[in-house]
Amino acid sequence: MQTETRYIFVTGGVMSGLGKGVVSSSIAKLLQLSNQKVSCIKIDPYLNYDAGTMNPIAHGEVFVTDDGGECDMDIGNYERFLNQSIPKTHNITTAQIYSSVIESERRGEYLGACVQIIPHVTDAIKDRIRNIAKNENLDVLVVECGGTVGDIESLPFLEALRQMRLEEGSDKIIFVHVTLAPSLDVVGEQKTKPTQHSVQELRRIGIQPDLMAVRCSRLLDTSAKRKISLFSNVSEKDVFSCHDAESILTVPQMLYDQGIVDVIFKKFGKVGLVNTSANWDKWNSIVNSFVNLKDQVRIAMVGKYVKLADSYVSVNHALKHAGAKIGKNVAIDWIDSEELNGSIDKLSQYQGIIVPGGFGERGAEGIIKTANFAREKNVPYLGICFGFQLAAVAFGRYVCGLSDANSTEINPNTENPVIDLLPEQKFIENKGGSLRLGANEIKVDDSTLGFKLYKSATIFKRHRHRYEFNQKYLELFNTKGLRFSGYSDNKKRMEILEIPNHKFYLGVQFHPEFSSRPGYPEESFEAFIRAASSA
Ligand code: GLN
Repeated sequence: MQTETRYIFVTGGVMSGLGKGVVSSSIAKLLQLSNQKVSCIKIDPYLNYDAGTMNPIAHGEVFVTDDGGECDMDIGNYERFLNQSIPKTHNITTAQIYSSVIESERRGEYLGACVQIIPHVTDAIKDRIRNIAKNENLDVLVVECGGTVGDIESLPFLEALRQMRLEEGSDKIIFVHVTLAPSLDVVGEQKTKPTQHSVQELRRIGIQPDLMAVRCSRLLDTSAKRKISLFSNVSEKDVFSCHDAESILTVPQMLYDQGIVDVIFKKFGKVGLVNTSANWDKWNSIVNSFVNLKDQVRIAMVGKYVKLADSYVSVNHALKHAGAKIGKNVAIDWIDSEELNGSIDKLSQYQGIIVPGGFGERGAEGIIKTANFAREKNVPYLGICFGFQLAAVAFGRYVCGLSDANSTEINPNTENPVIDLLPEQKFIENKGGSLRLGANEIKVDDSTLGFKLYKSATIFKRHRHRYEFNQKYLELFNTKGLRFSGYSDNKKRMEILEIPNHKFYLGVQFHPEFSSRPGYPEESFEAFIRAASSA
């Protein structure tokens, strides 16, 4: 099955963490700005079925899609750059491919054959990619292959990509290889040997890159570029410098200035570009809103996985989106809730406090105290998921007088389970993919903070949780002054909590961070940062 879609395959060399996701997103953005219908796929060659069961400290955040996928955080990059939702099928893992092949084998679809990596696994990979291209009627599909060339896990995927080039023709497929040119000190020479080796490794498995995107701390100099061109067999104009930038949003412009769009269009035989200045004006005004922000808002982010910035990458971005919209630089201090006991007063130096999602007992007490501190001291507070739940626990303890109020996730034997398992979760055994996931409808009451910021009686927000507010306590909480202004499933679940007369106290059971985009901050983040900056 051939498609009309053109493909850009992005591979990585030398080491992980080079920003392949940003390169892929930036290329996709440039093509979108050139009026192409684009989307991105992330291949993750690991054996997990999806990212849902992985520890955010080791792997970075789990990004939740509208359709309930628990995906690699690169999907979030694609959504934010392209300002479009990406379906979960766009995150392909080894487990998904192998299970589909094994299921087909059991159904007897390969009767008579010995089922092998080539062709059965590689065919399944190619089908998955082509189906997306076809179903979504894409002009260009960017496919980023996770991991580093030479990894055992990624071999079947790279082999499938190699075959696709043969089948589709070289005018339809471009291979971009992302590598690193390190320099050992600030003024030092940029070293090209790791890149040379990595290209050799790629060629060994039959892939000749068309374009090189070279990560480096400062502009890739001419001699390094020449060397890379010579050893990689890629012409000099096709070697692109991806040097450090103040904001990742400036990377599309950086690549554009080096002529990448012309190079891609020439290779694809697409000539006669339409006038795209209106697209660029809009994008540039968004990018510019992120630079040279002078006023600062200091925000404390109190959570569990603060040791790795990537664990809350969407929350960080959402805060920055909100800041840029109102012309403020949001300075975020990540505070480990486990280390907060006894030093809660240090939170008074911040203009706002945000508590992002989290799981399990560790660090929960620090979060409960944080939520209470924000309420008592009238500090703007935004609690997301776990931050919503533990704000309810804090309210139960300190306002309603339920001294042992808790979530059964933290203390299964509490007398006052104000947060408890969703009823449908009680009999679930498998941990993978079994939370309440994805975008669900929420009703918002009129004349509430929730309504004021969403300006709508119905919203759709992404979820990822097993626990929820226990309705048994609804009346008590209401009489004590906590207002649940948003709910779902005919009031079966509480979704938004707020405290009237507080400067800004909002808890949301959903994850607003996943739908925040540059230029279009999610409403609760914008309102939170506005409240914090006027505090
Ligand atoms: N651990 C809580 C739950 O499962 C909150 C989850 C979250 O913050 N994403 O309901």
